[in-house]
Amino acid sequence: AIILGIESSCDDTSAAVIKDDVILSNVVANQDVHKAYGGVVPELASRAHQQNIIPVVEKAIKDAGVSRNDINAVAFTRGPGLMGSLLVGTSFAKGFALANNLPLIEVNHLHAHVMAHFIKENEHDTNQPSFPFLCLLVSGGNSQIIVVRDQLHMEIIGQTIDDAAGEAFDKCAKIIGLPYPGGPLIDKMAREGNAEAFKFNKPKIKDYNYSFSGLKTSVLYFLRDELKKNPEFIEENKADICASLQKTIIDILMDKVIKAAKDTGIKQVALAGGVSANSGLRDRLTQLAQEKGWKTFIPKFSYTTDNAAMIAINGYYKYLKQDFVGQEVAPFARTEF
Ligand code: ATP
Ligand code: FE
Repeated sequence: AIILGIESSCDDTSAAVIKDDVILSNVVANQDVHKAYGGVVPELASRAHQQNIIPVVEKAIKDAGVSRNDINAVAFTRGPGLMGSLLVGTSFAKGFALANNLPLIEVNHLHAHVMAHFIKENEHDTNQPSFPFLCLLVSGGNSQIIVVRDQLHMEIIGQTIDDAAGEAFDKCAKIIGLPYPGGPLIDKMAREGNAEAFKFNKPKIKDYNYSFSGLKTSVLYFLRDELKKNPEFIEENKADICASLQKTIIDILMDKVIKAAKDTGIKQVALAGGVSANSGLRDRLTQLAQEKGWKTFIPKFSYTTDNAAMIAINGYYKYLKQDFVGQEVAPFARTEF
């Protein structure tokens, strides 16, 4: 089956075409308008989605080398995300389905981040996890440990009670004076620094849950005190601060994954979401794989941040079950699986 996927949950407008589980095209339009504001401005995001959606979908269909008539279903992100942004993708998907007489498939954005592992580059691509596996989903809005039972059944066994890991990266970066989004910049600077230079407290939180808001506060107070003694402290120690901070975030994340792997006996561990681009996190996972005998999976970079390929693959598995929704479907901003 040929599925058109549409993603518009936050600040990326994306469309992708998949043939069964093999990707044919994946087009992403980023929005630069938010850079000046240090974060995503919802109203600007939905306006940019409106401008981008038609050209992005047209390009995805063209790049895929298919025609509109070849498409068998339209999958779209129903939520969670920004309401104004979701409305653009949802309305477009409904209109496209209605005009072309196609079934509509709703996709949970977080589910889709995990499903990125099942996108194949070609028919011979066999590097997919088998079931069950553990997935650490770390993105701008979420940090979760998920037991993935099969393509459509996922159980969240732990999650953040406050900030997400990506948020921790971005908020700490802001305190250091780095532009938004700071995660990739911290990653880059951390490579030049000593991760043992500074110690930040790790939260004491039960089970497989996370908390990152305390880290942000401790970084704020630590830097405030150091800057009193030396106004150049950040400039002189930027790489060490970034490396130490990144190590703390990775320690927090992986301590719980190690615990989950031990308790469940599952030895396949996958990363998903934008933060899985972090080189320190990738290195740590590789190192743990050797130590613990895990088999690990990290999706291609373009499938870790927001993209429609992951929506299309999720749509494909729902298509196989004929799991369709009607034209009355409305987006949701927040929800559980
Ligand atoms: P959600 O899916 O939870 O709604 P989102 O889609 O906005 O959130 P993603 O696009 O998956 O989030 O990820 C964006 C986050 O990933 C940002 O917080 C960004 O700073 C972070 N990020 C991207 N690359 C890196 C990196 N190399 N190191 C650390 N963080 C990174
Ligand atoms: Fe996302």
